[in-house]
Amino acid sequence: IETRMPKVGTTIFTVMSALATERGAVNLGQGFPDFDCDPLLVDAVADAMRKGLNQYPPMAGIPALRQVVADKIAAIYGARYDWNDEITITAGATQAIFTALLAIVRPGDEVIVLEPVYDSYIPNIELIGGKVVAVPMSTEYRVPWDRVRAAVTPRTRAIMVNSPHNPSGMILRDADMRELESIAVDANLFVISDEVYEHMVYDGEPHQSACRYPALASRSFVISSFGKTFHVTGWKVAYCAAPAPLTAEFRKVHQFNVFTVSTPVQHGLAEYMREPSRYLQLPAFYQRKRDLFREGLANTRFRLLPSEGTFFQLVDYSAISDMPEADFAKWLTTEIGVAAIPLSAFYEQPVENGVVRFCFAKKEETLKLALERLSAL
Ligand code: GLN
Repeated sequence: IETRMPKVGTTIFTVMSALATERGAVNLGQGFPDFDCDPLLVDAVADAMRKGLNQYPPMAGIPALRQVVADKIAAIYGARYDWNDEITITAGATQAIFTALLAIVRPGDEVIVLEPVYDSYIPNIELIGGKVVAVPMSTEYRVPWDRVRAAVTPRTRAIMVNSPHNPSGMILRDADMRELESIAVDANLFVISDEVYEHMVYDGEPHQSACRYPALASRSFVISSFGKTFHVTGWKVAYCAAPAPLTAEFRKVHQFNVFTVSTPVQHGLAEYMREPSRYLQLPAFYQRKRDLFREGLANTRFRLLPSEGTFFQLVDYSAISDMPEADFAKWLTTEIGVAAIPLSAFYEQPVENGVVRFCFAKKEETLKLALERLSAL
């Protein structure tokens, strides 16, 4: 049969999680916590269910959740989004990203992405008939803005950015955001700003959301995921904040794609988020895990790369093995009992850097067990 994605297989996250389960390995591959969320959040969702809040919510999401998101954005980033016309609740960031692309990219339009790149972006662009223009990040995983500017053509429609960055853990700083803003304004581009790890930035640094920069915000879809922030990746809920004209286009697609998302989950989140400390404590919470993991890895033969944000840690394993990344990740899972993700999975044309990604969103005992195994190498 003729299909739209003949060369695409199963995502690396699914493959590595399946292998980890089969081999009983500690799963530091796919990015998700191995601890549960706050029981108060579960209670809030269960209460909503018991109250009979179980039918379709409004297409864009329940007002209470959109209001609390708009208030959060205003409090943290000083940006005002109208909850009614400018915030939409989605079925995870994955859907929000695809929906934003569908709303703006026409067949033949070019979309700039930065490599290494999150795995859904390129297939999304290709499914729409857009053309991917991949700009490599530097060897330190910084964005070479001069190369981004040089990649713009009259057909360029949008640029996709992700900070804090999966897989590298890099964060975009003020100077980066100003460069992005200047390129987007000069070339009249839309921006898809994937900020799912916005509440996981370490060492006291601020998260530089695209919301903070008015000229940038006026052309951006800013996307964040409740799944990451509240340790509930399986609930698949996120939001997209964008100026009213962009949101109107976004919703045209959204209504025929998922229409809307789980009512009780939205009510539970709205209730839970009334207390801002529940997301403001996240950097300290994850920094403790990052530091514990990095201290343990410092005693191994892995070379640590920086992790400024996200719950990921890249390591260079070239002192241990010269295997290609995918083989090394499989070997590590099956023989050493610790699953990882090969960095090559984040490139259109796989590049070999001798680097794998670990996820440290794990209980202390899980991290310690993994470190014990990794220390044997
Ligand atoms: N974003 C997660 C990661 O990078 C995985 C999500 C997924 O499996 N699609 O590991």
